[in-house]
Amino acid sequence: MRPARILLLASLLAGCDTPEPSLQRDEAGAGNAPAPRLAATPERDRQRVEWIRLEHAGWRQVEAPAPVISDTPAIADISATPSEPIPAAPALAIIIDDVGHGYAAGRHLIDLPFPVALAILPYTPAGPRLAAEAASAGKTVMLHLPMENLAGSSPGPGGLYAHMDEQEFMRTLEETLDSLPSVQGVNNHMGSRLTALRPQMDWVMAELAERGLFFIDSRTQAATQAAFAAQAQGVPSLSRDVFLDNTRNAQAMEAALQVALGRARRQGFAVLIGHPYPETLAFLASRVAQVPERDGVQLVSLESLFTRQSPLVQPVLPQAGLQR
Ligand SMILES: [Zn+2]
Repeated sequence: MRPARILLLASLLAGCDTPEPSLQRDEAGAGNAPAPRLAATPERDRQRVEWIRLEHAGWRQVEAPAPVISDTPAIADISATPSEPIPAAPALAIIIDDVGHGYAAGRHLIDLPFPVALAILPYTPAGPRLAAEAASAGKTVMLHLPMENLAGSSPGPGGLYAHMDEQEFMRTLEETLDSLPSVQGVNNHMGSRLTALRPQMDWVMAELAERGLFFIDSRTQAATQAAFAAQAQGVPSLSRDVFLDNTRNAQAMEAALQVALGRARRQGFAVLIGHPYPETLAFLASRVAQVPERDGVQLVSLESLFTRQSPLVQPVLPQAGLQR
């Protein structure tokens, strides 16, 4: 992009750092929402920053290709950048992680006039209500499934741990899935320890296959076994993504968005992941909403990527003929 265009974008986006007045009002508790919820606090903000640090620790940033494990050819099939011709209509799917603590932020996502997937943490005050309302509004609902991480910090209620035997693991998983209505898919919250364990990933994917759910690997661990396990169980799965809001200002989010758009144009699609920060919500409403017109990239639902008729989309389906 030319410097003049960057300056223009920066000036256009200068207002995005300020949360929308309606959001501030709702977060202050003046809305008519009766759902119990936790107020946004510096502690909650600090915790979310720590989650992101842990979740993204294993992720090689932006233009670097997805990590490939040399002695495991199947992962290369899943994550390699295709070299086929660019499709006519590149698509971008958006997931917002860590939803459920605040009703107002989740409702803001539901009201966005384009497809967004809400990845909702289990046992959060506003989670069940947001799941139901998101489903009614046609938004994708995902369970943001807490899994053990290498740093030893708690992934929160409903967490799955390596020390659990199969019975306890499955009981926890089933209860957590049952706790949230309308779930269409799952992605991992943390999990840098657990996703590297193939037996545990097989247990997760067997349950998802039984329930007809898809899985998105957040890739908190380069040696993740999730894609292999999903493939073996016939669970539709994707793991490519770009993080929108590692840095919470409009200029940094614009740069991340451009990376995602570039990937979408080259690969046919990209998955963009953000978090329910005020800055991110404002950026979604003010900038991402303009993507189809300004950038010529469709905003699509996550699940549509699994049925998308594009030679560049290679979801892990049992019929896909991938190497085992
Ligand atoms: Zn998370």
